[in-house]
Amino acid sequence: MSRTRKRNRVRIDRKARMQLPPVHAQVRPPQERVKDFKEIYIPYSPEDAQLEAARCLHCPNAPCQAACPLHNDIPRALGLIEAGKFVEAAQVYRETSTMPEICGRVCPQTLCEEACVLNKAGKPIDTRHLEAFAADAQRRATGVPLPQIAPATGKRVAVIGAGPAGLTVAESLTRAGHQVVVFDKCPDAGGLLKYGIPNFKLDKSLVDKKTQWLKQLGISFRFGVTVGRDVTLQSLRAEYDVLFIGIGTSKVMLPHYEGDDLEGVYCATEFLTLGKYTCDRQPQDNAHFAPGPRVHVLGGGDTAMDCLRTAVRLPGVTEATCYYRRSEAEMPAHKQDYHYALEEGATFQWLTNPVRFIGDENGKLKAVEYQKMQLGEPDASGRRRPIPIPESNFIVEAETVVLALGYRPDWEFNEHADELKVDPKGRIAVDDPHTGHTNLPGVFAAGDVVFGANLVSPAIAAALDVAQAMDAYLKG
Ligand code: SF4
Repeated sequence: MSRTRKRNRVRIDRKARMQLPPVHAQVRPPQERVKDFKEIYIPYSPEDAQLEAARCLHCPNAPCQAACPLHNDIPRALGLIEAGKFVEAAQVYRETSTMPEICGRVCPQTLCEEACVLNKAGKPIDTRHLEAFAADAQRRATGVPLPQIAPATGKRVAVIGAGPAGLTVAESLTRAGHQVVVFDKCPDAGGLLKYGIPNFKLDKSLVDKKTQWLKQLGISFRFGVTVGRDVTLQSLRAEYDVLFIGIGTSKVMLPHYEGDDLEGVYCATEFLTLGKYTCDRQPQDNAHFAPGPRVHVLGGGDTAMDCLRTAVRLPGVTEATCYYRRSEAEMPAHKQDYHYALEEGATFQWLTNPVRFIGDENGKLKAVEYQKMQLGEPDASGRRRPIPIPESNFIVEAETVVLALGYRPDWEFNEHADELKVDPKGRIAVDDPHTGHTNLPGVFAAGDVVFGANLVSPAIAAALDVAQAMDAYLKG
């Protein structure tokens, strides 16, 4: 995949374009969208996509492209969308990205869109949704073409983890002529795309279509296999020429609270996965999952917003409240996710920290004890440190609590890979992020398991770099 390309200057009337009104993708009204788990954005019509793309100023230095972790050639793609050449536009995104239909949905506006020069006038180009539009249009019109595959090298590659990084490495090395097998502990591919991101942000059928396409490309999948438990790292190293580890950060951080084993206390992954099965409110799907009417979500990141927005969609839930130990200003969630959570009826309690969970005589959660906090000096994160206020404890009734307090790599895997060098946070140590070589010869890693929990597009970008290094290693 080419990551850079020299830009031709495009002759356009920039002043006239700056006057054009934005034609941003529309969002379904909150009162309508909370009734289902369908995506909240209304897809662009071809006409509207062309109008929006026609606002692009084709900036010679393309700050949008520089801000994109994958360096997608956004101006060139927008030029093609403007001309109605949607399939060609999709191919431009696919030159640098393995998943434009997914990045166009899950990337936050803080990347390419925030970098757009038109942001200064408050009307940036809706780059993300145009990317999703082009990729969808191609899929409908022609399907995603299978790329040429290099002559078989006879080398075998094991990819551990079928998330964005693992799938990207699998695709890249298959194209390079290597034989790739992907292992994942889940029953399907996608990792957090399938099990962490709610359907109202990313329609899961897109992940399944990507998996089918990868199978057509020749990639084999072994689902339901946990490396470290069902098969050892050592045996995979003996069987395959190289290994890639892209297990992400699938474990939710679980500080110990009194009562955290009560019925009604969920970790975020568990809650989001159960919520996923209530898509479209099929009675047979949600019969086994009925959270109580009052849901408390603990945490202030994007996952907490996803949990709140899942909660407001679940049958029987009447209150979904976020309890966060700092103030609104320190909350790490992206502003747009916070805004949508508010619109959909979630409420927020700032400067509040859980102390313990209180159960009834049947072991079911009935209340949470909190303590009020105040902000002190900034800590290592640069945000003001929350400090407990003495004698400020109070109790709030709740039937469901969701712990959305951050993610870390899967400890089970690391415990069984004792010779693999990891840092104190469980992240795999690599020689250089661009090569991703671990301390074990022939074992590479990239994505969240190296950097910690992050966005999808940086994981794909890192995986593309590491796939190149792995290819060179195999051919060396
Ligand atoms: Fe177009 Fe905005 Fe990128 Fe400039 S920064 S090329 S206007 S999308």
